[in-house]
Amino acid sequence: ADYDIEKIDDFRWRLPKTGGMRVPAILYATEDMLPDILSDDAPQQAKNVAHLPGIVKASLAMPDIHWGYGFPIGGVAAFDPDDGVISPGGVGYDINCGVRLMASKLTVDDLDRRSRERLVDHLFRRVPTGVGSSGAMRVDDAELQRVLQRGAEWAVNDGKGSQADLDVIEEHGRVGGADPDAVSGRARERGLDQIGTLGSGNHFLEVGYVSEILDERAARVMGLNKGTVTAIIHSGSRGFGYQVCDDALSDMDKAMKKYGIELPDRQLACTPIPSPEGQKYLAGMRCAINYAFANRQVMAHNTRLAFEDALDLSPREHGLFTVYEVAHNIAKFEKHTVNGSKQEVCVHRKGATRALPAGHPLVPGRYQKVGQPVLIPGDMGRYSYVLVGTDRAMEETFGSTCHGAGRQMSRRKARKTAGHRNITAELANEGIVVRGQSDRTVREEIPEAYKDVTDVVKAVEGAGISKAVAQLRPLGVIKG
Ligand code: 5GP
Ligand code: MN
Ligand code: MN
Repeated sequence: ADYDIEKIDDFRWRLPKTGGMRVPAILYATEDMLPDILSDDAPQQAKNVAHLPGIVKASLAMPDIHWGYGFPIGGVAAFDPDDGVISPGGVGYDINCGVRLMASKLTVDDLDRRSRERLVDHLFRRVPTGVGSSGAMRVDDAELQRVLQRGAEWAVNDGKGSQADLDVIEEHGRVGGADPDAVSGRARERGLDQIGTLGSGNHFLEVGYVSEILDERAARVMGLNKGTVTAIIHSGSRGFGYQVCDDALSDMDKAMKKYGIELPDRQLACTPIPSPEGQKYLAGMRCAINYAFANRQVMAHNTRLAFEDALDLSPREHGLFTVYEVAHNIAKFEKHTVNGSKQEVCVHRKGATRALPAGHPLVPGRYQKVGQPVLIPGDMGRYSYVLVGTDRAMEETFGSTCHGAGRQMSRRKARKTAGHRNITAELANEGIVVRGQSDRTVREEIPEAYKDVTDVVKAVEGAGISKAVAQLRPLGVIKG
């Protein structure tokens, strides 16, 4: 695509208002990243989002931006609660997809080749993977209703984890306003046997270690020392959230005409926030948010059990604790400064992470002085990062930043690039043990399929919307 683009500074680019755009789109990236980003339709999607009623300030695109359903992945957009809209495509199919980071008392030297293999085998057994993965546990409909209303708290009450986990989850692992009656029977059906499961593709559970400290003070507060063994869990609301999104898209697609909303792309289907369709989606989306929180809490618990079994350690010996858990596909009502005054807005983050600064009231006590931890996975062969939020993010991006490296190859192209290579053996050569449910997934997820996450981190750091704390490297990963 051919874009009209204005340089703001080395890390910011403006796609000015044209046609029906109500606000400009702002892209965060380094100059080196631009050709790649602009060769894709995602910037056009960021412009399309700027057409939506009630959008405030700007349609934002993070450096990991790539094409998504309607809204780009790596997009942030905030809407006025009275005049604005809510759009399922602005949250994504995997509602409350997110990342938990855990750290342990172990160091990389404690995990030789054999123990890495044992650990990954045990994780693979305890955490079901793959498209329709199920069977970690099964609940009945009455129990599911409690999951949908109580999120991670439900799992902790069921003996899986502790208050210390809840303290460091975004929203403490539970949002209000979740109404199980707002979701279809089909969605509920799909939710019964998928709690505690990873899913397919990009979702993963990775054991790794702290390879570099970039901010001593913040790293110390997070319990991250050089060599510390870590675990990252990346998953969302599984078939349940997918169904909630799909149901809402078809409701809204039908209802749109009645509200006189005209859109450049039908995938942007949305309705006014106060409308019955908008309220129904919000109530259902919040069920899916809680579902995902419960899902990750159960997987975190089973990760601890896998460490115990595989390495023959007591909980006290491995000491696995939650550093933080973030959502990166979500819409929430938050207070932000818009045109000089504080107001509530509905922030859609799709493939974008909340990044609150030090001193913000929603940052857990432990992190008050350093800022909210931000978790940025890279790929299974290279590295991932831990960042913190900043005041600048609060001022400019509704307290948001990037969420990953972002794909640079389609799944198809990745398979082609993998060709006849033995990816598992290549990674094993680097000391990384990979277990995938399907060989096809592993080939689609080769490290080269993703951008170098270091570039993404440099861009958000350069722009001042987050600050790097530590780099993590993988030792073993399970994939769908
Ligand atoms: P998404 O939520 O957009 O599906 O993925 C988030 C990010 O996770 C991707 O952009 C990619 O950078 C990263 N990622 C995908 N697979 C892996 C993996 O196996 N290990 C790590 N560390 N990161 C991954
Ligand atoms: Mn997901
Ligand atoms: Mn995700």
